Amino acid sequence: MIDNMHMYSQLGISEEVYRFGEEVLSSLRTRFDGIDQVAEYNQAKVISAMQKNRVSAGCFAGTTGYGYNDVGRDTLERVYADCFHTEAALVRPAILCGTHALAVALSANLRPGDELLSPVGRPYDTLEEVIGIRESACSLAEYGVTYDEVELLPDGSFDYEGIRAKIKPQTKLCTIQRSKGYATRPTFSVKQIGELIAFIKSIRSDIICMVDNCYGEFVDVIEPSDLGADMIVGSLIKNPGGGLAPIGGYICGTKACVDRCAYRLSAPGLGQEVGANLGLMTSLYQGFFLAPTVVSGALKGAIFAANIYEKLGFRCVPSAAEPRHDIIQAVELGSEAAMCAFCEGIQAAAPVDSYVTPVPWDMPGYDSQVIMAAGAFIQGSSIELSADGPIREPYAVYFQGGLTWVHAKLGILMSLQKLVDAGIVKL
Ligand SMILES: *Cc1c(COP(=O)(O)O)cnc(C)c1O
Repeated sequence: MIDNMHMYSQLGISEEVYRFGEEVLSSLRTRFDGIDQVAEYNQAKVISAMQKNRVSAGCFAGTTGYGYNDVGRDTLERVYADCFHTEAALVRPAILCGTHALAVALSANLRPGDELLSPVGRPYDTLEEVIGIRESACSLAEYGVTYDEVELLPDGSFDYEGIRAKIKPQTKLCTIQRSKGYATRPTFSVKQIGELIAFIKSIRSDIICMVDNCYGEFVDVIEPSDLGADMIVGSLIKNPGGGLAPIGGYICGTKACVDRCAYRLSAPGLGQEVGANLGLMTSLYQGFFLAPTVVSGALKGAIFAANIYEKLGFRCVPSAAEPRHDIIQAVELGSEAAMCAFCEGIQAAAPVDSYVTPVPWDMPGYDSQVIMAAGAFIQGSSIELSADGPIREPYAVYFQGGLTWVHAKLGILMSLQKLVDAGIVKL
């Protein structure tokens, strides 16, 4: 027997916390087997796309300037397209983050007079300014693109009749957010998204269906692009970057949609053929290669956290037993002190900045204080172990990531340790 307890105690975990964790874990083995099977399937999917496109050492060479004939960049885009079963892909360090990728996809495919519809309620915070729901310079609204939305039904399901009523002649594009993000609604399965797309297409087959795929990649063995999405969009400092991509975003979809995205991202007439890779290709390829197993580790962490905290009486979303469709775990801790202790634990378990103490602060754009814990190699990377939440009812922390399962495990045990130390939790 390896003496894990010895190392854990060196890190500050008490024996009772460790034992509590082991007891919870012993009930999760079959669940974890299922996650490993998804990772195995997705690993093969990624390798197969890399082999098909003859990825070679030459693909890792850095390019500069215009980046004409950039074999590494062009091949990576074909790898993404093949892996996600789309005609085309735009995968670039010049796509700065998830919001940028979504803004490019929307502004490229919507023209003045068109309407954007969100059939799944209000989209992610940062999109409010992109769309112009909150007034902002250069929003879609400023360019004459209108917006409408349909709330989900009280049980979190799609309001099909409401959606039918809101599809107008000018409705050009539907934006469907897969992950709940920081909302309280459930995350949608790929199958549910496929049903929604089929419904929209049955009303008008020319409506473009775009899925905000952030936090969802590789959680399932299919992606929304397998079930009719015209574009799937996401960030490389979340799931598909595997923790190694230092920057970037992707848009995979039909050639017609992705071509327009390339013209929007660079310039009309230039499109996909310019854009030097600046020597980042190795991390983008290797990160994509690691992504299926990194995502599986993050999922195990999320499930472990839900099972620990539900057992201690805290409400968890999703619940301990629920199937997973993204890597985010919300835990309703019920007080500011508990949120702080939880985040202190996540921070104390980090390989980077473990010595700092996270405190709530007035983050611009939020109406309450926010606390954040992250000790990441890549700034703001949320495929790395991280937790955050607004200091208000129900005092929920959103926990996600972990480049390895064992690091996620340590983070959760450390969060529990801090709650025990603060006298908030009794084991
Ligand atoms: C993270 C996220 C975004 C925005 O991505 P950034 O990289 O933070 O700009 C958009 N939608 C969802 C659902 C997200 O989780």
